[in-house]
Amino acid sequence: MLTTIPQPDDYKNVGIECLIQAYKGIYTVDNSEMRPGVDRGDIWKYHEIVLRTSIVLIHQGIELLLKSEVARKSPLLLIDQKRGEWKTLPNSGDESFTDLYTIAGNDLLRTFYACIQAGSISENFVAHFEDIRVKRNKIVHSIGGEEISPEDVLKLILWTFTYLLGQDSFWESVLDKFYNHPGHDVGDMELEFEEIQQYIHIAYLEGILGRGELNNHFKIDLKSRRYHCPDCSARDGVLVRGDGTVEEYPSGKWAFLSPNAPDSTGLECLVCREYFEIERKDCVPTEGEPCKGNVIYLDEPGDTDEDTGEVYEEDSYICLSCMRDQSTETKQVPTE
Ligand SMILES: [Zn+2]
Ligand SMILES: [Zn+2]
Repeated sequence: MLTTIPQPDDYKNVGIECLIQAYKGIYTVDNSEMRPGVDRGDIWKYHEIVLRTSIVLIHQGIELLLKSEVARKSPLLLIDQKRGEWKTLPNSGDESFTDLYTIAGNDLLRTFYACIQAGSISENFVAHFEDIRVKRNKIVHSIGGEEISPEDVLKLILWTFTYLLGQDSFWESVLDKFYNHPGHDVGDMELEFEEIQQYIHIAYLEGILGRGELNNHFKIDLKSRRYHCPDCSARDGVLVRGDGTVEEYPSGKWAFLSPNAPDSTGLECLVCREYFEIERKDCVPTEGEPCKGNVIYLDEPGDTDEDTGEVYEEDSYICLSCMRDQSTETKQVPTE
């Protein structure tokens, strides 16, 4: 009989690991090796192997994700060996699935399409896979590599996720993969993927790919109005720069109305993935420039005497456009 037959999720998990590793290689060079005065193009020329390795990993990741879908029907469809040779009859002995040849390339692609619902995958996927297959073959056979940019490879990674696993799947995989880094246990801020690191990842991707490109890979419309998150924005206090200026840290607006409507009273944060109830009323800052914001969050509920209704401490609201406290005019007066 056949032993150690793989499960669909075995393929899927390793496929995602390959794609995340392809991303992480590029992210790491861009975020830890750039030095002032050194041309980014020169750094990437020096690190061309990182991009080439990423292409090989993307190809590997796609094949594993295709295998995962085929294995949902039956892992036996993946075996590339004549049935006459299968050791499946009584008394024919055991054979481990891992020792068998499995299908790849064109055979895998055709079997994959035979296993999924028609129209469930973008028709652009076939050309995408072919593009990566050709690039990967040139690399592994060392045939004159064409020049490739980190932006191009990042796009290939994101599109692979979006075609095969849907919008949001890239970002969710980044968050899931790195949240449990063992460095977490010893409090290493560089290694652990705390929310503060996630701000850096998402800002990096938007900066390097542009909002329009990144928007293809999220269900939320990144082009809609953005707000600070009541929970994870500025959680680490302030960042003091070399020139003495300070900013709240982490900064950047990654929370969006949910649903995205003018009267919406919900807010969703892409970074901490929390949902918040908000109130729609005009921002009335206690000081400084006026603000046109109208997404207000009850930051700290006040304290009211239950019996007499006397207010010891007023509710404290903040505007999620400007993060400023709201004047006492917006306080809620207890009704009894
Ligand atoms: Zn948040
Ligand atoms: Zn405001």
